[in-house]
Amino acid sequence: MPGLARKMDPVPDHGEESYRGSGRLKGRKALVTGGDSGIGRAAAIAFAREGADVAISYLPEEGADAKEVIALIEKEGRTSIPLPGDIKDEAWCRALVEKTVTGLGGLDILVINAGRQQYREKIEDLSTDDFDKTMKTNLYALHWIAQAAVPHMPAGASVITTASIQAYQPSPILLDYATTKAGIVAYTKALAKQLIERGIRANVVAPGPVWTALQPSGGQPDEKVEKFGEDSDFGRPGQPVELAPVFVLLASQEASFINGEVYGVTGGKGVG
Ligand code: NAD
Ligand code: MG
Repeated sequence: MPGLARKMDPVPDHGEESYRGSGRLKGRKALVTGGDSGIGRAAAIAFAREGADVAISYLPEEGADAKEVIALIEKEGRTSIPLPGDIKDEAWCRALVEKTVTGLGGLDILVINAGRQQYREKIEDLSTDDFDKTMKTNLYALHWIAQAAVPHMPAGASVITTASIQAYQPSPILLDYATTKAGIVAYTKALAKQLIERGIRANVVAPGPVWTALQPSGGQPDEKVEKFGEDSDFGRPGQPVELAPVFVLLASQEASFINGEVYGVTGGKGVG
Protein backbone atom coordinates (compact mmCIF):
# COMPACT_ATOMS: atom_id res chain seq x y z
CA MET A 1 0.00 0.00 0.00
CA PRO A 2 -0.40 2.25 -1.85
CA GLY A 3 -0.50 0.25 -5.08
CA LEU A 4 0.21 1.98 -8.34
CA ALA A 5 -1.12 0.40 -11.56
CA ARG A 6 1.71 1.99 -13.55
CA LYS A 7 4.26 -0.06 -11.55
CA MET A 8 2.61 -3.42 -12.25
CA ASP A 9 4.12 -6.00 -14.59
CA PRO A 10 2.26 -6.55 -16.79
CA VAL A 11 0.43 -3.21 -16.65
CA PRO A 12 -3.34 -3.91 -16.45
CA ASP A 13 -5.64 -3.14 -19.37
CA HIS A 14 -8.14 -0.52 -18.20
CA GLY A 15 -9.37 0.14 -21.74
CA GLU A 16 -6.92 2.95 -22.51
CA GLU A 17 -6.52 1.61 -26.05
CA SER A 18 -9.22 -1.04 -26.18
CA TYR A 19 -12.53 0.48 -24.97
CA ARG A 20 -14.74 2.04 -27.63
CA GLY A 21 -17.83 4.01 -26.67
CA SER A 22 -21.08 4.54 -28.53
CA GLY A 23 -22.73 7.50 -26.80
CA ARG A 24 -24.68 5.43 -24.27
CA LEU A 25 -24.09 7.90 -21.40
CA LYS A 26 -24.20 11.15 -23.31
CA GLY A 27 -24.43 14.18 -21.00
CA ARG A 28 -24.45 12.10 -17.82
CA LYS A 29 -22.50 13.13 -14.71
CA ALA A 30 -20.61 10.43 -12.84
CA LEU A 31 -18.60 10.05 -9.64
CA VAL A 32 -16.32 7.01 -9.37
CA THR A 33 -14.48 6.32 -6.11
CA GLY A 34 -11.15 4.57 -6.62
CA GLY A 35 -11.21 5.87 -10.20
CA ASP A 36 -7.41 6.18 -10.39
CA SER A 37 -6.66 2.51 -11.00
CA GLY A 38 -8.10 -0.95 -11.51
CA ILE A 39 -11.82 -1.52 -11.88
CA GLY A 40 -12.77 2.09 -11.08
CA ARG A 41 -10.34 3.40 -13.68
CA ALA A 42 -11.83 1.09 -16.31
CA ALA A 43 -15.33 2.33 -15.42
CA ALA A 44 -14.18 5.99 -15.52
CA ILE A 45 -12.54 5.63 -18.94
CA ALA A 46 -15.57 3.78 -20.35
CA PHE A 47 -18.03 6.36 -18.93
CA ALA A 48 -16.05 9.20 -20.58
CA ARG A 49 -15.92 7.33 -23.90
CA GLU A 50 -19.71 6.88 -23.63
CA GLY A 51 -20.10 10.65 -23.26
CA ALA A 52 -20.22 11.26 -19.48
CA ASP A 53 -18.34 13.80 -17.36
CA VAL A 54 -16.48 11.96 -14.60
CA ALA A 55 -15.18 12.93 -11.15
CA ILE A 56 -12.72 10.47 -9.62
CA SER A 57 -11.87 10.06 -5.94
CA TYR A 58 -8.62 8.38 -4.88
CA LEU A 59 -5.91 8.20 -2.24
CA PRO A 60 -3.53 11.20 -2.55
CA GLU A 61 -0.55 8.78 -2.72
CA GLU A 62 -2.02 7.38 -5.95
CA GLY A 63 -2.12 10.76 -7.70
CA ALA A 64 0.27 9.62 -10.46
CA ASP A 65 -2.27 7.04 -11.66
CA ALA A 66 -5.14 9.52 -11.27
CA LYS A 67 -3.37 12.09 -13.44
CA GLU A 68 -3.38 9.63 -16.35
CA VAL A 69 -7.11 8.98 -15.96
CA ILE A 70 -7.91 12.71 -15.83
CA ALA A 71 -5.95 13.19 -19.07
CA LEU A 72 -7.82 10.32 -20.76
CA ILE A 73 -11.22 11.72 -19.73
CA GLU A 74 -10.31 15.22 -20.94
CA LYS A 75 -9.03 13.74 -24.22
CA GLU A 76 -12.63 12.67 -24.87
CA GLY A 77 -13.69 16.30 -24.51
CA ARG A 78 -15.37 15.52 -21.17
CA THR A 79 -15.00 17.31 -17.83
CA SER A 80 -13.07 15.54 -15.09
CA ILE A 81 -12.68 16.43 -11.44
CA PRO A 82 -9.78 15.03 -9.38
CA LEU A 83 -10.76 14.29 -5.78
CA PRO A 84 -7.69 13.24 -3.74
CA GLY A 85 -8.48 12.43 -0.10
CA ASP A 86 -9.05 9.68 2.45
CA ILE A 87 -12.60 8.29 2.45
CA LYS A 88 -12.10 6.90 5.97
CA ASP A 89 -12.92 10.48 6.95
CA GLU A 90 -16.65 11.26 7.04
CA ALA A 91 -16.21 14.99 6.41
CA TRP A 92 -14.16 14.26 3.28
CA CYS A 93 -16.80 11.81 1.99
CA ARG A 94 -19.43 14.52 2.23
CA ALA A 95 -17.09 17.16 0.77
CA LEU A 96 -16.16 15.04 -2.25
CA VAL A 97 -19.82 14.62 -3.15
CA GLU A 98 -20.38 18.40 -2.87
CA LYS A 99 -17.31 19.10 -5.03
CA THR A 100 -18.65 16.69 -7.67
CA VAL A 101 -22.12 18.23 -7.71
CA THR A 102 -20.70 21.76 -7.92
CA GLY A 103 -17.99 20.89 -10.44
CA LEU A 104 -20.12 18.81 -12.81
CA GLY A 105 -23.39 20.66 -12.25
CA GLY A 106 -25.14 17.57 -10.91
CA LEU A 107 -24.73 13.85 -10.29
CA ASP A 108 -26.63 10.95 -11.85
CA ILE A 109 -24.18 8.03 -11.83
CA LEU A 110 -22.60 7.10 -8.49
CA VAL A 111 -20.02 4.30 -8.43
CA ILE A 112 -18.86 3.41 -4.92
CA ASN A 113 -15.88 1.22 -5.69
CA ALA A 114 -12.84 2.19 -3.60
CA GLY A 115 -11.75 -0.61 -1.31
CA ARG A 116 -9.18 -1.86 1.19
CA GLN A 117 -7.93 -5.46 1.13
CA GLN A 118 -4.99 -6.55 3.32
CA TYR A 119 -4.61 -10.25 4.01
CA ARG A 120 -3.82 -11.63 7.49
CA GLU A 121 -2.91 -15.31 7.80
CA LYS A 122 -4.31 -15.82 11.32
CA ILE A 123 -7.18 -14.38 13.33
CA GLU A 124 -4.60 -13.29 15.93
CA ASP A 125 -2.90 -11.11 13.30
CA LEU A 126 -6.03 -9.15 12.39
CA SER A 127 -5.71 -6.10 14.65
CA THR A 128 -8.48 -3.77 15.72
CA ASP A 129 -6.77 -1.08 13.65
CA ASP A 130 -6.91 -3.32 10.54
CA PHE A 131 -10.52 -4.21 11.17
CA ASP A 132 -11.42 -0.56 11.68
CA LYS A 133 -9.64 0.63 8.52
CA THR A 134 -11.32 -2.02 6.39
CA MET A 135 -14.79 -1.28 7.82
CA LYS A 136 -14.31 2.48 7.40
CA THR A 137 -13.07 2.26 3.81
CA ASN A 138 -15.43 -0.41 2.51
CA LEU A 139 -18.62 0.15 4.53
CA TYR A 140 -18.74 3.48 6.40
CA ALA A 141 -17.58 5.41 3.33
CA LEU A 142 -20.22 3.63 1.26
CA HIS A 143 -22.89 4.94 3.64
CA TRP A 144 -21.43 8.44 4.00
CA ILE A 145 -21.01 8.94 0.24
CA ALA A 146 -24.40 7.44 -0.68
CA GLN A 147 -26.14 9.48 2.03
CA ALA A 148 -24.55 12.72 0.82
CA ALA A 149 -25.17 11.95 -2.86
CA VAL A 150 -28.74 10.65 -2.97
CA PRO A 151 -30.45 14.02 -2.26
CA HIS A 152 -28.73 15.39 -5.39
CA MET A 153 -29.65 12.47 -7.65
CA PRO A 154 -32.65 12.78 -10.00
CA ALA A 155 -35.04 10.08 -11.17
CA GLY A 156 -33.24 7.97 -13.78
CA ALA A 157 -29.98 8.06 -11.81
CA SER A 158 -28.00 4.92 -10.99
CA VAL A 159 -25.95 3.77 -7.99
CA ILE A 160 -23.41 0.98 -8.53
CA THR A 161 -21.34 -0.61 -5.77
CA THR A 162 -18.38 -2.97 -6.08
CA ALA A 163 -18.60 -6.04 -3.86
CA SER A 164 -16.67 -9.25 -4.58
CA ILE A 165 -16.92 -12.99 -4.98
CA GLN A 166 -15.59 -12.83 -1.39
CA ALA A 167 -19.15 -11.99 -0.26
CA TYR A 168 -20.12 -15.54 -1.30
CA GLN A 169 -16.91 -17.57 -1.19
CA PRO A 170 -14.79 -15.94 1.54
CA SER A 171 -11.06 -16.70 1.80
CA PRO A 172 -9.73 -17.72 5.24
CA ILE A 173 -7.14 -14.91 5.13
CA LEU A 174 -9.67 -12.13 4.39
CA LEU A 175 -11.99 -12.20 7.44
CA ASP A 176 -12.55 -8.45 7.60
CA TYR A 177 -12.60 -7.83 3.84
CA ALA A 178 -15.04 -10.65 3.05
CA THR A 179 -17.32 -9.40 5.82
CA THR A 180 -17.45 -5.93 4.29
CA LYS A 181 -18.15 -7.34 0.83
CA ALA A 182 -21.15 -9.30 2.12
CA GLY A 183 -22.22 -6.07 3.83
CA ILE A 184 -21.99 -4.14 0.56
CA VAL A 185 -24.32 -6.66 -1.11
CA ALA A 186 -26.91 -6.38 1.69
CA TYR A 187 -26.66 -2.59 1.93
CA THR A 188 -27.05 -2.12 -1.83
CA LYS A 189 -30.02 -4.50 -2.07
CA ALA A 190 -31.76 -2.64 0.78
CA LEU A 191 -30.92 0.75 -0.73
CA ALA A 192 -32.27 -0.39 -4.11
CA LYS A 193 -35.68 -1.14 -2.57
CA GLN A 194 -35.73 2.29 -0.93
CA LEU A 195 -34.48 4.40 -3.83
CA ILE A 196 -36.64 2.89 -6.54
CA GLU A 197 -39.48 4.93 -5.02
CA ARG A 198 -37.51 7.96 -6.29
CA GLY A 199 -36.78 6.37 -9.66
CA ILE A 200 -33.15 5.67 -8.76
CA ARG A 201 -31.74 2.17 -9.35
CA ALA A 202 -28.96 0.54 -7.31
CA ASN A 203 -27.01 -2.59 -8.26
CA VAL A 204 -23.86 -4.46 -7.29
CA VAL A 205 -20.95 -5.66 -9.39
CA ALA A 206 -19.20 -8.66 -7.81
CA PRO A 207 -15.82 -9.27 -9.46
CA GLY A 208 -13.75 -12.42 -9.21
CA PRO A 209 -9.96 -12.25 -9.65
CA VAL A 210 -9.03 -9.06 -11.54
CA TRP A 211 -5.49 -7.91 -12.31
CA THR A 212 -5.23 -4.70 -10.29
CA ALA A 213 -2.84 -3.07 -7.79
CA LEU A 214 -5.07 -4.24 -4.92
CA GLN A 215 -3.64 -7.77 -4.97
CA PRO A 216 0.17 -7.23 -5.10
CA SER A 217 0.04 -4.35 -2.56
CA GLY A 218 -0.87 -6.57 0.40
CA GLY A 219 -4.19 -7.99 -0.82
CA GLN A 220 -2.73 -11.47 -1.24
CA PRO A 221 0.56 -13.18 -0.32
CA ASP A 222 3.19 -13.02 -3.12
CA GLU A 223 2.92 -16.73 -3.94
CA LYS A 224 -0.83 -16.29 -4.55
CA VAL A 225 -0.30 -13.18 -6.69
CA GLU A 226 2.00 -15.23 -8.96
CA LYS A 227 -0.82 -17.70 -9.62
CA PHE A 228 -3.61 -15.13 -9.39
CA GLY A 229 -6.67 -16.11 -11.43
CA GLU A 230 -5.22 -19.42 -12.64
CA ASP A 231 -8.19 -21.20 -11.11
CA SER A 232 -10.76 -19.25 -13.18
CA ASP A 233 -12.37 -20.97 -16.18
CA PHE A 234 -9.99 -18.94 -18.35
CA GLY A 235 -6.81 -19.89 -16.49
CA ARG A 236 -6.06 -16.19 -15.97
CA PRO A 237 -7.36 -13.19 -14.00
CA GLY A 238 -9.76 -10.73 -15.63
CA GLN A 239 -8.46 -7.39 -16.90
CA PRO A 240 -10.20 -4.30 -15.47
CA VAL A 241 -11.56 -3.37 -18.92
CA GLU A 242 -13.52 -6.65 -18.93
CA LEU A 243 -15.67 -5.22 -16.11
CA ALA A 244 -16.39 -1.93 -17.88
CA PRO A 245 -19.34 -3.09 -20.04
CA VAL A 246 -21.28 -4.16 -16.94
CA PHE A 247 -20.75 -0.77 -15.27
CA VAL A 248 -21.86 0.99 -18.45
CA LEU A 249 -24.98 -1.18 -18.74
CA LEU A 250 -25.98 -0.63 -15.09
CA ALA A 251 -25.37 3.13 -15.41
CA SER A 252 -27.37 3.47 -18.62
CA GLN A 253 -31.11 3.69 -19.25
CA GLU A 254 -30.84 0.31 -20.98
CA ALA A 255 -30.87 -1.13 -17.45
CA SER A 256 -34.33 0.37 -16.79
CA PHE A 257 -35.71 -2.91 -15.31
CA ILE A 258 -32.56 -3.91 -13.41
CA ASN A 259 -32.56 -3.10 -9.68
CA GLY A 260 -31.07 -4.66 -6.54
CA GLU A 261 -29.19 -7.22 -8.64
CA VAL A 262 -25.72 -8.64 -8.16
CA TYR A 263 -23.74 -8.96 -11.39
CA GLY A 264 -20.92 -11.47 -11.09
CA VAL A 265 -17.90 -11.01 -13.34
CA THR A 266 -15.87 -13.86 -11.93
CA GLY A 267 -14.43 -15.80 -14.85
CA GLY A 268 -16.86 -18.62 -14.14
CA LYS A 269 -16.39 -18.98 -10.38
CA GLY A 270 -19.95 -17.80 -9.77
CA VAL A 271 -21.65 -15.69 -7.11
CA GLY A 272 -23.86 -17.69 -4.78
P1 NAD B 1 -7.28 -0.68 -6.94
O1 NAD B 1 -6.31 -0.67 -5.84
O2 NAD B 1 -6.78 -0.38 -8.30
O3 NAD B 1 -8.49 0.34 -6.65
C1 NAD B 1 -8.93 0.64 -5.35
C2 NAD B 1 -8.84 2.15 -5.17
O4 NAD B 1 -9.48 2.52 -3.98
C3 NAD B 1 -7.43 2.66 -5.07
O5 NAD B 1 -6.96 3.03 -6.34
C4 NAD B 1 -7.51 3.83 -4.12
O6 NAD B 1 -7.33 5.07 -4.76
C5 NAD B 1 -8.93 3.74 -3.56
N1 NAD B 1 -8.88 3.78 -2.10
C6 NAD B 1 -8.51 2.79 -1.26
N2 NAD B 1 -8.57 3.22 0.01
C7 NAD B 1 -8.97 4.52 -0.04
C8 NAD B 1 -9.18 5.52 0.95
N3 NAD B 1 -9.01 5.26 2.25
N4 NAD B 1 -9.56 6.76 0.53
C9 NAD B 1 -9.74 7.03 -0.79
N5 NAD B 1 -9.56 6.11 -1.75
C10 NAD B 1 -9.17 4.88 -1.37
O7 NAD B 1 -7.99 -2.10 -6.90
P2 NAD B 1 -9.33 -2.70 -7.59
O8 NAD B 1 -9.12 -4.15 -7.59
O9 NAD B 1 -9.66 -2.00 -8.83
O10 NAD B 1 -10.43 -2.38 -6.50
C11 NAD B 1 -11.68 -1.77 -6.79
C12 NAD B 1 -12.79 -2.50 -6.07
O11 NAD B 1 -12.90 -3.82 -6.61
C13 NAD B 1 -12.55 -2.69 -4.57
O12 NAD B 1 -13.76 -2.43 -3.88
C14 NAD B 1 -12.18 -4.15 -4.46
O13 NAD B 1 -12.53 -4.67 -3.19
C15 NAD B 1 -13.03 -4.73 -5.56
N6 NAD B 1 -12.64 -6.07 -6.02
C16 NAD B 1 -11.43 -6.29 -6.62
C17 NAD B 1 -11.11 -7.58 -7.03
C18 NAD B 1 -9.79 -7.88 -7.68
O14 NAD B 1 -9.47 -9.04 -7.87
N7 NAD B 1 -9.01 -6.91 -8.05
C19 NAD B 1 -12.01 -8.62 -6.85
C20 NAD B 1 -13.23 -8.37 -6.25
C21 NAD B 1 -13.53 -7.09 -5.84
MG1 MG C 1 -5.04 3.05 -7.12
